[in-house]
Amino acid sequence: MAAGRSHLALELATLPLWILAGAALEIEGQHLLVFSLSYTLASILLSPDLDLRRTSVGRRWGPLRVIWVPYFLLFRHRGLSHSLLWGPITRVGYLACLTAAVWCTVVRLSGVSPVIPAVNVHVPALAAGLYFPNTLHVLLDRACSLRYRVG
Ligand SMILES: [Zn+2]
Repeated sequence: MAAGRSHLALELATLPLWILAGAALEIEGQHLLVFSLSYTLASILLSPDLDLRRTSVGRRWGPLRVIWVPYFLLFRHRGLSHSLLWGPITRVGYLACLTAAVWCTVVRLSGVSPVIPAVNVHVPALAAGLYFPNTLHVLLDRACSLRYRVG
């Protein structure tokens, strides 16, 4: 199994290649920026290995790593969280549910209804930034597993 640092190193090392490919395809700079930010955040903080109790990505969350305890209890290692399609959805959906619960609690306790600012984000660039590192992670895991079985 590849270590968390190997995953992160591969993902961050290939980011310039994706940006160059995007520039070659004449994708707008704003979209490349959104892609780069979501790609970097997903690589550092939203690795599929959040399905493990002890993992380098969990440590990167610092004291907030406790929010991922239900996640690794819900998702067995290399199960749905390591799916090419469903993996990022499980993590982003999990974070969205947590955020909504905290938001509702704060609104209920404070009695204030804060205004949510409108954010105009290019969804395909954001999604690509979430899915590319997930795909690299899963493919590296699979390649290492195959090599381990063969070798
Ligand atoms: Zn993994």
